[in-house]
Amino acid sequence: MGSGNVEAPISLMSDFLRQCGGVAVIDGGLATELERNGADLNDPLWSAKCLLTSPHLIRKVHLDYLEAGSDIIITASYQATIQGLWPKAFLKERVKPCLKEVWKLPLSHEIYIMENVVNVSVMELVMCQISLKLRLLLSFLRKKDIKIPAWFAFNSKDGINVVSGDSLLECAAIAEACKRVIAVGINCTPPRFIHNLILSVKKVTTKPILIYPNSGESYDPDRKEWVQNTGVSDEDFVSYVNTWCEAGASLVGGCCRTTPNTIRAIHTTLVNKSNSPSLKLSL
Ligand SMILES: [Zn+2]
Repeated sequence: MGSGNVEAPISLMSDFLRQCGGVAVIDGGLATELERNGADLNDPLWSAKCLLTSPHLIRKVHLDYLEAGSDIIITASYQATIQGLWPKAFLKERVKPCLKEVWKLPLSHEIYIMENVVNVSVMELVMCQISLKLRLLLSFLRKKDIKIPAWFAFNSKDGINVVSGDSLLECAAIAEACKRVIAVGINCTPPRFIHNLILSVKKVTTKPILIYPNSGESYDPDRKEWVQNTGVSDEDFVSYVNTWCEAGASLVGGCCRTTPNTIRAIHTTLVNKSNSPSLKLSL
């Protein structure tokens, strides 16, 4: 499978999930893991800063996640906009390789690229904005005839709506209507909200549902640090995995503050589940 195969993007994802045993493992937090490996990300580029200053750390974290059992690796492109990279790269010659590394097509600010280890390339579109922006983005995908499949992930702070306050159901339904979108789901949201959010998304989509929750800790933007007292342990996080899959999730990973240990535990849980005759995962 490759990014050029767009005849049947949904079957492309179904085939991929089948190869993964029914559920694919997405990687875990990138920026927070880069920081754990010594990177200073106090910068508007956030994790993308390392594309310029320490690409070896990005490589290391990607490899750590692959070794932990990730089927999918998300690139360090969250803040890698042209506007952001230009003043940091100083020289055009340095911007271009960065863009080549993480972007495969002309991009708007909201479009990011994800590539995985079996050469399925999809765009990861993280939405916490209003549904109007979502419609514009889907219109962009159609008008530009972009061939690369996309997935949409929404985050929620109240367990009901997306961060902007817009209806998750409405946003997911809009994404459902686009052929280029091969999965819809939730990212960077506390684990305690995920089960009900999966059930909500399931009401309006037939596409595979992806989830990559954060650790449950919250980020204090004033102190510029994570507040740990609401976090869940890896064991607690992983204890939700079977429930999330039974509710309908087909791609499971982690976002901020999750680590290779989290992903390893998710991978082990899914392997054990798929080996259990009574609990066979189905597509
Ligand atoms: Zn996150």
